[in-house]
Amino acid sequence: MRGWVHTFARDVIRPAGAEWDEREETPWPVIQEAAKIGLYSLDFFATQWFEPSGLALPVAFEELFWGDAGIGLSLVGTGLAAAALSANGTPEQMGEWLPQMFGTENDVKLGAFCASEPDAGSDIGSIRTRATYDNGDWILNGVKTWVTNGGIANVHVVVASVDPDLGTRGQATFVIPPGTPGLSMGQKFAKHGIRASHTAEVVLDHVRIPGSCLLGGKEKLDARLARVRNGERAGEQGAMRTFETTRPTVAAMAVGISRAAFEYARDYAGEREQFGRKIGQNQAIAFLLADMATRVDTARLLTWRAAWMARQGRPFEQAEGSMSKLVAGETAVWVTEQAIQILGGAGYTRDHPVERFHRDAKIFTIFEGTSEIQRLIIGRAVTGLPVR
Ligand SMILES: Cc1cc2nc3c(=O)[nH]c(=O)nc-3n(C[C@H](O)[C@H](O)[C@H](O)COP(=O)(O)OP(=O)(O)OC[C@H]3O[C@@H](n4cnc5c(N)ncnc54)[C@H](O)[C@@H]3O)c2cc1C
Repeated sequence: MRGWVHTFARDVIRPAGAEWDEREETPWPVIQEAAKIGLYSLDFFATQWFEPSGLALPVAFEELFWGDAGIGLSLVGTGLAAAALSANGTPEQMGEWLPQMFGTENDVKLGAFCASEPDAGSDIGSIRTRATYDNGDWILNGVKTWVTNGGIANVHVVVASVDPDLGTRGQATFVIPPGTPGLSMGQKFAKHGIRASHTAEVVLDHVRIPGSCLLGGKEKLDARLARVRNGERAGEQGAMRTFETTRPTVAAMAVGISRAAFEYARDYAGEREQFGRKIGQNQAIAFLLADMATRVDTARLLTWRAAWMARQGRPFEQAEGSMSKLVAGETAVWVTEQAIQILGGAGYTRDHPVERFHRDAKIFTIFEGTSEIQRLIIGRAVTGLPVR
């Protein structure tokens, strides 16, 4: 599987990376190519997700992002929405909506996961989008932001508040079916990196959806809200559960960028000559490459550990999922910066991909929980204190 994904990343994704970064558009033709070989498909994601070691998706994502991170995110963005649906939905809901997120090889579709809002980023408990129950339907009102595939997706998975007084514990996750009136795309963001991945606001103006679009069903939600109101434990919430399961896969994306930057810088250092010798023959450069290689492997091993633990159903007692995301994200930023340094002036131009790798890498200390939030989660886990 790794060789198969790598071949696609090498032959199709990497050659297209610079173009789609400049165009700042969703690379539909590349997604279509991936769909044709079954790489962009529900079948591929589901098979790899349930692979018993837990390592299959991280391995696949590393290869895709080694190819190009912007295109990689366009190919796996649907996976985040699919993970949100799978974490919270019933088997019937999964059967109905997951295929509609991916479409078919001749008619590819996307999914989008909408949690963040202008005033609720790290503080996901202050989500203002309201879901109100009305005669068997739900009506959603609010503005979501930073949504990968937002407004261009076929299926949107939206986290909304049913009871704002209860913070995250009063939230629920909904599916918005294709073509539902009231859902529209707001601003599309012009970004620093991962520019081939579409990021936009999603406006929800009186969006009416059937009761069956509440993930998990109303009975379960009512029982949970009743437990919370009685002061009992509610269990994990939708958005948090999604982030926990997806963190190691996000870490793997960052590992892919790091590895790409390391390899490019290593090859350059083996060719470029100054002072009559390869620049890689200077300890200063070789030691840097040694540190880069070591950190890439460190990040990958933390990622694989977390992915393996998640698959075996072992709890993240030391916040191992967050550890993998924290280290992989910061490694990607550091390694890509060192790669620019090793290329010197050439590294600072768009003639080489390392400046793009660096721009792309930065998102990994921001989305799916910033580095500060990962440290907060790890800090709480290792001290047992309510660190704020
Ligand atoms: C390209 C892109 C794609 C995205 N895709 C999606 C998506 O598909 N779906 C989705 O729902 N969201 C998505 N996001 C949103 C992303 O998850 C948020 O940007 C992220 O959670 C941070 O929220 P914020 O931007 O509001 O920053 P803020 O929460 O405002 O944070 C600003 C700074 O303050 C720090 N900070 C905040 N609180 C604390 C604290 N308690 N202690 C210490 N430091 C703190 C943060 O670490 C950060 O450095 C995306 C974002 C981007 C940029």
